Amino acid sequence: MFKISKYLITQQLPTDQAKTLYYSTRTGQMVAMRTEITEHINSKQWHLLSTNELLQLTRNEILVPEDEDELSEIMAYDRYTESSREVLGVTIQPTANCQLGCHYCGQVHSKNKMTDEVMLKTITRIKNIIEAEKYRDLKITWYGGEPLMALALIERFYDQIKSYCVETNINYDSDIITNGLLLKPDYFKKLMEFEVRAIQVTIDGPKSTHDQRRITKGGKGTYDVIMANLKNCLNSEEFETYKPSILLRINIDSTNYGEVDNLIELLKEEGIFNKVNVHFAPVVEWGDNNADKLSLTKQQFAEKEIDWMISLYQNGKMPQELIPDRKSYSCMVDDINSEAYDAYGNVYPCYEFPYTPMYQTDDCIEGNVLEDTDFKDKRPAKIRSFKETLPEREYSYCIDCNLLPVCHGSCPKIWMQGGNACPTFKYNIKDRMLLQYVTLNNKP
Ligand code: SF4
Ligand code: SF4
Repeated sequence: MFKISKYLITQQLPTDQAKTLYYSTRTGQMVAMRTEITEHINSKQWHLLSTNELLQLTRNEILVPEDEDELSEIMAYDRYTESSREVLGVTIQPTANCQLGCHYCGQVHSKNKMTDEVMLKTITRIKNIIEAEKYRDLKITWYGGEPLMALALIERFYDQIKSYCVETNINYDSDIITNGLLLKPDYFKKLMEFEVRAIQVTIDGPKSTHDQRRITKGGKGTYDVIMANLKNCLNSEEFETYKPSILLRINIDSTNYGEVDNLIELLKEEGIFNKVNVHFAPVVEWGDNNADKLSLTKQQFAEKEIDWMISLYQNGKMPQELIPDRKSYSCMVDDINSEAYDAYGNVYPCYEFPYTPMYQTDDCIEGNVLEDTDFKDKRPAKIRSFKETLPEREYSYCIDCNLLPVCHGSCPKIWMQGGNACPTFKYNIKDRMLLQYVTLNNKP
């Protein structure tokens, strides 16, 4: 017989009490069904459910076998997905340099870039991993420092890796995280040539706010340059041809949360709102820099986030991933073959480790491409054991959390440092469900 899954979140529709939303985190699916269903299931009155309802409930794993150990099932599915994963994801941080001096950044910048030797050995290592593990897809994230300060390196990487991918029939994809200062039309054109199909740029508010936070090392504001670059790129022929995804990230704490709505208005006035996606990110601590000391509490952020998402929707844009999909791991740390490479050839499990003094330890560095291109001598960093130790670990309340299948602990680095890594959806999932229901039934 059946039981209701532990990994279920329900929310009655305020506009129609006879209907309830059932969100199964075991499948990442949400369905709207009769409110009475819960009672029928609890009292095991199966005959009061229609065949179609029973089908929906079991298919979405809202109802699961009565004797099933759900956590073991979830872990078994995750292991299976991991063993059949075909995508190798790597983050390449070709330069330690960045023009900006944002207060919340945990990196220490210098003028160092990858040498030819480091570049070639990084490529060899990537090829060796692909061949040894039989990956079919390669996904590169260009990150920094500021990766556009090393565009020539990105070009050489691309030329070599792409021809290898063509020869070996590997699918190639890439994205970039940039501060946007160098994102001039000619750079944008190059990125399109190098098959970068997603670009993330940070804007922290309208000019007066952004220019207090996203400043150059010399203390100058950057809003005008970044906004002009974005507008030029978004209005270019290349944008029309390649349609890359452009994500504007807003890093938010108690000093700028009041400006988010103004920024949305400004993006509309500038004529670029319709061409970008917007992501609201809380400012977090990075490498022990206390950047979160002025952050909103998780509950405050989650509450505001719903208002901002509603505002996006009211302005004609679908907010991204309102209810999270099922996933089988937390992040790159959970995938032993995913790696981040810095300008010195160091190999890390997490892209926030390079250039951050706190992580320049044997516990965090897994090797160096100059010594080990075939990755056989990899020393898995401590953080990699996050998943294997899941059932016993001290932050075991993930185990009891009904969001586990769509979260998996979110950010192992934060847990490892004694923080609380719960994503904002932990605090506003029921509002997200309602918003998802509204948006699906009334497309903007
Ligand atoms: S550990 Fe946290 S910061 Fe590092 S890659 Fe994972 S989610 Fe990102
Ligand atoms: S990080 Fe938080 S939301 Fe995610 S599984 Fe753990 S307890 Fe749940």
